[in-house]
Amino acid sequence: MVAETKIGPKKLFIGGKWQDAASGKVFPTINPATEEVITEVAEADERDVDLAVRAARKAFEEGPWSAMSGADRGKLLRKIADAVVKYGDEIAYLETIDTGKPISETRHHDASRVADLFEYYAGWCDKIQGETIPVRGNFLNYTLREPLGVVGAISPWNFPLSLAAGKVAPALAAGNTVVLKPSEQTPLTALRIAEIAQEVGLPDGVFNVVTGPGSTTGRALVLHPGVDKISFTGGTKTGQQIMRDAAATLKPVTLELGGKSPNIVFADADLEAAARHAFWAIFYSKGEVCCAGSRLFVEDSVHDRLMDKLVERTKRLVPGDPLDPKTRLGPLSSESQLKKVSRYVELGIAEGGKLVAGGQRYRTGNGKGYFFHPTIFDEVDNRMKIAQEEIFGPVLATIRFKDLNEVIGKSNDTPYGLAAAVWTHDIKKAHLAAKMLKAGTVWINTYNALDVSSPFGGYKMSGFGRELGMHALEHYTQVKSVWVNLGE
Ligand code: NDP
Repeated sequence: MVAETKIGPKKLFIGGKWQDAASGKVFPTINPATEEVITEVAEADERDVDLAVRAARKAFEEGPWSAMSGADRGKLLRKIADAVVKYGDEIAYLETIDTGKPISETRHHDASRVADLFEYYAGWCDKIQGETIPVRGNFLNYTLREPLGVVGAISPWNFPLSLAAGKVAPALAAGNTVVLKPSEQTPLTALRIAEIAQEVGLPDGVFNVVTGPGSTTGRALVLHPGVDKISFTGGTKTGQQIMRDAAATLKPVTLELGGKSPNIVFADADLEAAARHAFWAIFYSKGEVCCAGSRLFVEDSVHDRLMDKLVERTKRLVPGDPLDPKTRLGPLSSESQLKKVSRYVELGIAEGGKLVAGGQRYRTGNGKGYFFHPTIFDEVDNRMKIAQEEIFGPVLATIRFKDLNEVIGKSNDTPYGLAAAVWTHDIKKAHLAAKMLKAGTVWINTYNALDVSSPFGGYKMSGFGRELGMHALEHYTQVKSVWVNLGE
């Protein structure tokens, strides 16, 4: 494990150079476990964003990147993957102090996911191709699948590097150049990956990182006429704002937004496994997960048995120092998340939810850190706000149901549609439910299974476009149709 070291001030990464913001402004990044400032980071404004976009444009139009073969691009992406493996401990450490996610997660899930993403998309670089089309007439018609140009990637604070890499890797694989704007709350790993890109020899300007708040730095990127596409992960309201801003220059956007995902346990399920997965579905990464299983639907006849198992497990989950390899629940990412989660717990009680575990802030010895006890509400009605709105924290709403039609109706009755899970041994019921659920991902007898090769994204207000797998590449390419006259 990387020893705790002092981390120096951070600059912007533009055109292969590290530079201060034009304004000279900086902002602090805070460790949510200690409430201490980790370091100061340069705050980009529209002038810096403009420089970054110009650098990315130049690299796209003129630099070695534009002339490079897919195979050679692939070699570079593979080198990034190898470097991420090499520096995995350090990346995990930075992610943990910036987000509060336990080191066991950042090391074994986040850092390895980032390496997997670059490795996977490295393999695609020389396989992105057009087709020949048997048109009418004496013509040869073929398509070219071309990159879009400069991609603006805006990533959130809950899985800072792996969600950023989920945009950067396919965008680069397709031959685009990228300007990444990580969340102001968690910029450290995005800046580290820029160092890695430089170390492995990615040409200048191909990958740029501008740090600063979403409302200024992020907005400047979305509004910039030199950006050809925005790929965004974050809150639904921000997604709506981004669509409005992108409309001015008609930029295509892909949006991966929030969720209120149903996890449905039928009476015939393996209750031991269902309880174990329901627990991690909501408490993994402190519930700050877009596809968290935040609504647990339990069939009446097994409700009490399942809840006994789940509550017993939950009471044993004690928040702790995220740098301790044994910790499984770290602090919430920020003070504002702590306030938001606390407000929702008060609301849940006022709405008539039955609090059966947690429900308040967890105080460490020195009183520092944004820790919160894992919390379960039972006897929730699906129309309550705690069942409808995304809390984005370790708070579970449990709802009883009697039959398939009732539970599917209620599951689909939210504005969101990111993910859903079904627990049953009845194969017909499982596949019927998978068909009826309005969600971009459906898990059967599991939860949170993800792979870089399988598409991920939302229905309804959980967004549109798909990340991961070959589906993501469609959003970073455009198709040109070429006609050749073979003789009239
Ligand atoms: P945001 O949607 O504000 O943050 C996501 C990213 O967008 C960040 O990089 C942010 O920058 C940036 N951003 C914010 N406003 C703009 C803008 N106008 N133009 C361009 N970029 C912008 O998330 P919040 O931190 O406000 O979280 C609010 C809620 O959103 C959470 O409680 C949760 O419910 C949901 N959420 C969902 C996520 C998911 O995985 N789907 C991830 C994060 C949040 P910065 O952070 O620097 O301000």
